Amino acid sequence: MKIFVWLGMLFGLLQFPLKAQQIFPVHKYPQHYALPVHLDISLVGNFGECRPDHFHSGLDIRTNGKENVPVYSVQDGYISRVIMDSKGFGHAIYITHPEGYVSVYAHLNKFFPELQQYVTRQQYKTQSWKQEMFLMPHQFPVRKNQWVAYSGNTGSSQGPHLHFEIRHTKTESPLNPLLFYPQLKDTKAPTIRKLAVYDGRQSIYHQSPKLFTTQAASGKTHLIIPSITVETDRVYLGIIAEDFMESAKGSLGVYEMRLFESGQFRFGWQMNDISYDLTRYMNAHVDYKSKVLQNHWIQLCHRLPHDELKNLPFFQCRGWHDQIKRYFIPGNSD
Ligand SMILES: [Zn+2]
Repeated sequence: MKIFVWLGMLFGLLQFPLKAQQIFPVHKYPQHYALPVHLDISLVGNFGECRPDHFHSGLDIRTNGKENVPVYSVQDGYISRVIMDSKGFGHAIYITHPEGYVSVYAHLNKFFPELQQYVTRQQYKTQSWKQEMFLMPHQFPVRKNQWVAYSGNTGSSQGPHLHFEIRHTKTESPLNPLLFYPQLKDTKAPTIRKLAVYDGRQSIYHQSPKLFTTQAASGKTHLIIPSITVETDRVYLGIIAEDFMESAKGSLGVYEMRLFESGQFRFGWQMNDISYDLTRYMNAHVDYKSKVLQNHWIQLCHRLPHDELKNLPFFQCRGWHDQIKRYFIPGNSD
């Protein structure tokens, strides 16, 4: 039995024999949005990255270690919501755009003067520093590339950066912002650091996976041993993986995974659209026990029972073949 785990890049799907739409539905997003900062984009975090109890819901953009970098509206629209909080997003602005999307800018310092004055007046009026304001379209309309705030380090932020999101206006579901920015190049392949093998007869909480190290050679990642033989009639897999892109110094979360068994697609996910209602199922997407005990994020190539992520159009799976007697996973002799 040959098992093949394929990790996808956002804009690198063409090398693969199966077209993306044969497995995942394809949605078109606007491609003309401006970037929220006028710096060379450098990401510290991307969409769908595993974080404690949630998937990261946007991009974390470096601001060169500084605060007070100007932040711009990515498209025409109006400021529809403003938050002043000492936790979470800190000082944040939401801009509603006519195409059906909302952009979110978080951990900010000051807003542009008219908005800042309005917020200060509301704080005095309500005698509360903490605010959540919903605004009407006529109050603060903005144009694409209009300066709206200075970046900062407010709320639950561990260093100056801009947390940037794009959400569906109707569903409020965060989308992968990179889908809107094809100019941000991603031609660097993701890689599997370790393959985790589980005994499918036992609950994930009653075992520790066997971890197998991999090595990369000529653009492919192999196990360093020739094959794995598993003495069980059920097995499932997980991966410790990371992605890279031109616009990031360190590693990022993986965009897409597809698992094939003897050439047949069995399971996969794409990080495109993860609602706040479902983000806690991150704990079912990964091996939670391994995270707690070993601090590994093992992303499962398998759906745990009651994992509601299966309902997401972009987080699809087609079930795992449970009737397999033995697995041989090709190593570098293949
Ligand atoms: Zn963030």
